[in-house]
Parts: sequence; C-alpha cells; structure tokens
Amino acid sequence: MEAKINAFMDEVRTRNGHEPEFIQAVQEVAETVIPYIAKHKIYNGKNILLRMVEPERLLSFRVAWIDDDGEIHVNRGYRIQMNSAIGPYKGGLRFHPSVNASILKFLAFEQVFKNSLTTLPMGGGKGGSDFDPKGKSDDEVMRFCHAFMIELCRHIGPNTDVPAGDIGVGAREIGFLFGMYKKIRNEFTGVLTGKGLSWGGSKIRPEATGYGTVYFAQNMLQTKNEDFEGKTVVISGSGNVAQYAAEKVIRLGGKVVTLSDSGGYIYDADGIDEDKLAFVMDLKNNKRGRISEYTDKYTSAKFHKGKTPWDVKCDIALPCATQNELHEEDAKNLLDNGCMCVAEGANMPCTAEAVHLFHKKKILFAPGKASNAGGVATSGLEMSQNSLRISWTREEVDERLKGIMEDIHDSCIEYGKEKDGYCNYVKGANIAGFVKVADAMLAQGV
Ligand code: GLU
Repeated sequence: MEAKINAFMDEVRTRNGHEPEFIQAVQEVAETVIPYIAKHKIYNGKNILLRMVEPERLLSFRVAWIDDDGEIHVNRGYRIQMNSAIGPYKGGLRFHPSVNASILKFLAFEQVFKNSLTTLPMGGGKGGSDFDPKGKSDDEVMRFCHAFMIELCRHIGPNTDVPAGDIGVGAREIGFLFGMYKKIRNEFTGVLTGKGLSWGGSKIRPEATGYGTVYFAQNMLQTKNEDFEGKTVVISGSGNVAQYAAEKVIRLGGKVVTLSDSGGYIYDADGIDEDKLAFVMDLKNNKRGRISEYTDKYTSAKFHKGKTPWDVKCDIALPCATQNELHEEDAKNLLDNGCMCVAEGANMPCTAEAVHLFHKKKILFAPGKASNAGGVATSGLEMSQNSLRISWTREEVDERLKGIMEDIHDSCIEYGKEKDGYCNYVKGANIAGFVKVADAMLAQGV
C-alpha cells in the first residue's frame, strides 16, 4: 500500500513541484483514501483521486488599484474552481500577503471534502489575493475590492461559483465586492455569502465557523462522556473564528485563557469572560487593533510576544488562526500538559507531524475540514434562503447548524472508527468526503 501512495505522491509532486501546502494537504488525503480505493473495486482504474487533485479551472488575474495618494498598485488575484461534481464551486476568498497558488490550491482541495461533508450540494473552490488589507483605509479596500470584482464577476454566479470570506475578507469586503458585482451584472442574487443581514445575509453566518467548531468538539467529547463545563480551553487567533469559538465555549461553561494574533498571545489566568470578549471584538473588528492591547485594559493578563499559546496547560485546544501554526513540539507540549481534545477551527493549522502525535497518543483530534465546516455549511443555508427569497430565524439556522455538525461527526465515526474503538477523524472525514464526490464524478463520466 505504501508503494501505491508513494507512486501517487511522486506524480503529484512532479505536477506541483513548488507547492508545499498543497502537497501536504494531498498527502494526508492520499494516505487515508488510497487504501480505501484499493478495497473498493468501483474506484479501481478510474484515476479518480488524480482527477480530484487537478483543479477544473485555475484563474489568475491582475488587480490594479489606486491608493489614497493616487499611486497605482498591482496585486495578483486568483480563483481556483476545484471541483463541481456535487454543486456549484463554493469557498472563501483570502486577502493576505502570504496568498499564492499553493496556499489557495490546498484550501480549494480541502474545501471539496469539507463541502461534501456538510451534506449540502456544494462543490469546492477558493480564491483571493496577496493584497494586505492591514493598514489600508476603507476607501483603499473598497477600490481594491472593486478592481478585484471587475475581473472575477465574469467567472462567478449563484449557480456557477459562490465565493465568501476567509482571512482578510469580512463583512466590509463582502459588501464592496457585492456592490460591484451588482453594478456590473445588474442582478441581485446570492452570488456571495456572508452578506449583511439587510441584503440577503443569513443569521448566524458570522458566528457559524466558531460555533460549529465548538459543536463538533462537543460531539467528540460526548463520546468520552465529557463536555466543556469547567474545562480550560486554549484558543489561538482573535479573528472571526476565534471570537465566536470563545463565545460558545464561555456559554458552555468552559474557561478560555488565551487568544492570539501574528504579534503573540495573551494569557488571562482568570479566564476571558463575555465582557472581556466584547472588548476583544470591538478592538479587532472596529478598531483593527492588536491583541497585545488586551493587557492595557486587563492588567493581570500577560502578553507573550512572538509566541503561540501551545505551552499553556489546557484540557482542550482550538487552533483558530492559520495553516501550520501548531508543530510537533507544540503537540508534545499539549500532550504533556494533559490536553484531551484538539479541534481545528482554522484550515490545516496542525502540521502532519503534530497530527501524527495526536493519533499516536489516541486523543480526540478533529481536522478542520470536519470541525470548521459550520462556516461553509451556513453559507449553504444562506444560498438556500436566497433562492427561496426567505429568511430563517436565528434559532432555525442554529438548529440546522447543530444538526449538520452532528451529521458530519456521525460520518467521521462511520468511516474513521478503528478496530480498538478509537476514531481517526482525519480518515473518517477524508473517506466520507471522498465517497460522495467520487460517486458523482463516476456517474457523470470522464
Ligand atoms: N472560508 C471558509 C472556509 O474555509 C468559508 C467558506 C464559505 O463560506 O464559502 O470554509
């Protein structure tokens, strides 16, 4: 079996030489799915995984925009339309200086499996730009978003490809992007998700990724007769996902002791309560400040400059910042400190070596494509509401989100449970996500 996986990965490396994040994401899927394919004759000889690692369409375009001083800048825009076997391409846009083809391809690839897991009819895609919204004025961000959409608009549509937010793309950016799409196409449709509530957005969409991650962790903990009550929880990040994961943990009786950003992490031994979290939300969302400013107001908390929070003792860890933020050494620290559950709120925040250690020690570990699928699932619910021209209540959307996270958990157990009863959620998520897409591709021919 190892030879088969190696041969496949050699082929992937030959085709995608300089794309380390993409290769990392494919390797993880190959290790779990290739043995499954070998066992199931219907997939044999169809080269289905090789077809899945090749994007259906890869768009790259120039985005020129004018700053407040009249100077012209050029960034690169992308949209990767990875797989449309089970529905229109669906996935976020990321605006961050680190954005390149490798990062977007890994995200688009993961998105295919994630969207398949949600039980909703969505294919996978991802896009973005190396544009950095940090330090830009609202007008500059608007001009960039408009320039980006002038090109993107010809490739997307409510039944073709439905982008949303990701790192660096929040409510403000979605508004500017939607405004330009509507102007050019002269149509008011659900072409983007994460819209404002008064113009087609869904209730709970801002909360959904963070809440969903915690719901998923709750499902995992339940298998051990555990819950969040009284647990110490370490969270990385302080953006949309981290904020709402923290909110849900606090409401479930857990104690959140850390949050972070690229400058470092804050540790609050007394726990971040709802008031303190409201301060963080205002700081990050309205003032676009740094997490270090938390200690100006809450002076007993400590700021650890340039560090990640994985050496803090905790029962549960929720990495909610970005890819490859939790390494083997960090996993060791978490395990030594008695951590029992890790659920990824971000996409691929744990390195392969870290995941390997979690599996070896048989703790609860959820890959982002399962645990953070609540965001895109609620985007799917936004698409449904837009098509029906109706709007569901908070309670309705939250109930559906909870149900979807439970279904994803069940699928992971179905395909990931091993002989000794341990659930390998990575294997479960990969195979469950794969089967639905692969069956659709087989039915639709070559
Ligand atoms: N960017 C989010 C993700 O990684 C959400 C995508 C969406 O809502 O389309 O799943």
